Amino acid sequence: MPLHRKDDIREMIDDEIYASSDLSQPLPKYRFPSTEQSAQRIYSAVHDELMLDGNSRQNLATFCQTWVEPEVHQLMNECIDKNMVDKDEYPQTAAIEGRCVHMLADLWNAPDSANTIGCSTTGSSEAAMLGGMAMKRAWEKRRKVDGAPIDRPNLVTGPVQVCWHKFARYWDVELREIPMEGDRLIMTAEEVIKRCDENTIGVVPTLGGTFTCQYEPVRAVAEALDAFEEDTGIDIRMHVDGASGGFLAPFCAPDLVWDFRLPRVKSINTSGHKFGLSPLGVGWVIWREESDLPEEEIFWVNYLGGNMRDIALNFSRPGGQVVCQYYNFLRLGREGYRRTHSACYETAKFLADEISKMGPFEIIYDGDMASGIPALCWKLRDGIEHSFSLYDFADRLRTKGWQVPAYSLPPQREDLVIQRILVRHGVSRDLGAMLVEDMKRCLEHFEQHSVHASMTSEEASGFKH
Ligand SMILES: *Cc1c(COP(=O)(O)O)cnc(C)c1O
Repeated sequence: MPLHRKDDIREMIDDEIYASSDLSQPLPKYRFPSTEQSAQRIYSAVHDELMLDGNSRQNLATFCQTWVEPEVHQLMNECIDKNMVDKDEYPQTAAIEGRCVHMLADLWNAPDSANTIGCSTTGSSEAAMLGGMAMKRAWEKRRKVDGAPIDRPNLVTGPVQVCWHKFARYWDVELREIPMEGDRLIMTAEEVIKRCDENTIGVVPTLGGTFTCQYEPVRAVAEALDAFEEDTGIDIRMHVDGASGGFLAPFCAPDLVWDFRLPRVKSINTSGHKFGLSPLGVGWVIWREESDLPEEEIFWVNYLGGNMRDIALNFSRPGGQVVCQYYNFLRLGREGYRRTHSACYETAKFLADEISKMGPFEIIYDGDMASGIPALCWKLRDGIEHSFSLYDFADRLRTKGWQVPAYSLPPQREDLVIQRILVRHGVSRDLGAMLVEDMKRCLEHFEQHSVHASMTSEEASGFKH
């Protein structure tokens, strides 16, 4: 008689994982599972499925961080239980958030950075929503004092990220988005002023546009709005969408005046998880002075024994990303951020040079430190025949794992298709060189196996999958 029957100890036997009964059949996808399974086996199954997402480091489309230091992994692990909203329970995490707010206010040259107000968010989208709401409230207040109607607010922007379309729709604000025109792919002061009136709640320039990565001319717009106020008496505030640029310009273009040095700039948002170098899930919004955030937007929450100030839209929120943001500030300082980002700009320049030499491409933006973010974009050169479209080129690069998106521009340049590369921390010069080699191989492939009969660049751009 054996000591244990085999069936009794079945559960304890370390099966060959892929031969186990639960992994030798497809796992539930639509129905809620009825039974428990082994943690190890299900981990393997989920882990394996994630392989199909592709390799994020080769995703040159995203602005977001795809490489972090081992210490950041460690801190994230230690903070898995920290809820940002429980400021009473986790007072140090709350204190760390507060320090980051003041450090950012300092970085952005607020007149009194120790007394600014702001908060962390889940990203720039939430931060933009908060900045937008403050503009709307402040405008309403002023209108009410004048006894003027508040039913037709509008917001003036250049070609913006979708979060501003959402803001406009959610809060019933007319979005006056300046369309692209010919070679002008961003806002100009002149185009802004044409769209401003007494119902304008604010103007939002983007520091590092989504489509072409260029900085919009914040200072020129501020000066034009000063002149507009002198002419009309209408005082219009500005919010800068610094999702990318907020963490780039202070280090790599310190002479560019775009921030709280301009009194008209009342608030700025940025994404900690983009060039702030923190893991996904953190953004920031900071107001120039405490009085620039209308008090209606501040909630005092009496909860779990504390009376806490709450500005963000979300209630429970992970604290690790905020802690890692603080880690990065201390770890890198201005010097470290400058060095990290400068390396990216250099790689962007290298890529722009190499790609322009290949023949079929014309660089639109080459990753110039003073005028945009470490990125580049290009189109098919005009005036020559092409045997492939940029969509074909993007597809072909995908066979080597590279994700380099091709897309058409927003109104009124939908006719123009471009391809874009974001150079982030971890896109090293060597990786860039390998990408260049793969691009050349793709071009050779198209020479031998042309996808289409020769097309002009217009025809190639118009060709959509
Ligand atoms: C990424 C981005 C956003 C949205 O930010 P999230 O952090 O992804 O929410 C808004 N504006 C600009 C200019 C961006 O680049």
